[in-house]
Amino acid sequence: MALVLVMAAALWGIGHLMRMPYSARFLMIGLLYVAVLAVQIALPASHPLREATGGSAGEWAVLGGLVAVVWAYSRGLRQLRTRVRPENRAPADPAPSSSELERNARHIVLREIGGPGQKRLKEARVLVIGAGGLGAPALQYLAAAGVGTIGVIDDDVVENSNLQRQVIHTDARIGMPKVFSAEAAMTAQNPHITVRPYNRRLTADIARDLFGDYDLILDGTDDADTRYLVNETAVALGLPLISAAITQWEGQISVFDPARGAPCYACVFPEPAAVGLAPSCAEGGVLGPLPRVLGAMMAVEAIKLLAGAGETLLGRLMIYDAQYADVRTITVARRPDCGVCGD
Ligand SMILES: [Zn+2]
Repeated sequence: MALVLVMAAALWGIGHLMRMPYSARFLMIGLLYVAVLAVQIALPASHPLREATGGSAGEWAVLGGLVAVVWAYSRGLRQLRTRVRPENRAPADPAPSSSELERNARHIVLREIGGPGQKRLKEARVLVIGAGGLGAPALQYLAAAGVGTIGVIDDDVVENSNLQRQVIHTDARIGMPKVFSAEAAMTAQNPHITVRPYNRRLTADIARDLFGDYDLILDGTDDADTRYLVNETAVALGLPLISAAITQWEGQISVFDPARGAPCYACVFPEPAAVGLAPSCAEGGVLGPLPRVLGAMMAVEAIKLLAGAGETLLGRLMIYDAQYADVRTITVARRPDCGVCGD
């Protein structure tokens, strides 16, 4: 009997290594049980295989019966609990439809994301600050990736001069608030997600309440005051912050999260850049595809964080110089005397 139990444990271990779902592992062990029972019934009593696997069909039948009783009992309990809990009467998170499964198939076959990772994306709530150059591509890829709830806050309207790089917006939507233009594009691309547009400026009086509804914050604004407000609020609520910025030919991105040992934005940038050193896009110009590169990287970091895949930019700052096709990643650390997250 011990031999069979060792084989069952080995099957479970192999299933764990191959990241097989529990149902598949139980199925393998069930098949092993059926095979052992068949050996006990079909082979003569003195057969070595029968002796090696216990010697008696009766013992295995009793063991199988016990497992069946325990399984039926726990299943009954679970069903009772499901019926009792009011929030379970109408499931807020229905199983993915076949259309969603097909849509997300390329994520699901990725070993590091898989079905469980895709489910976490669907359950996630992500807030994007700004629907401009960086926010637009981040929003598009979060929506396409099936992130279940995406909030976006911005008080700008779509302008002709945005369209050179903010490709979520269209010529026909010039004059429309950016958050509604982004919402239209996102829900047209993926009807399985919820988009929450906030057509207003992020201010200190609403920041905490708003951030409290989300698991992860993405900041793609070009306004220093907003950046520091976003950082302070994310630190206060213990939320990870993916922050990117661009000027002319260069972009940078990092994941800030003092709650997990990484620095906050103010640890790395204690003061806003001096006027003239970091010109705005309107003053200094910006290469059209550059915000898309960095915005897509924001979505990449978001998906990794939410799905628990790969190694994120926590504690590292990536700098992309498009003019010389150069990428550098530098380590950044917490400052104990940081005014926002320090002691
Ligand atoms: Zn800090």
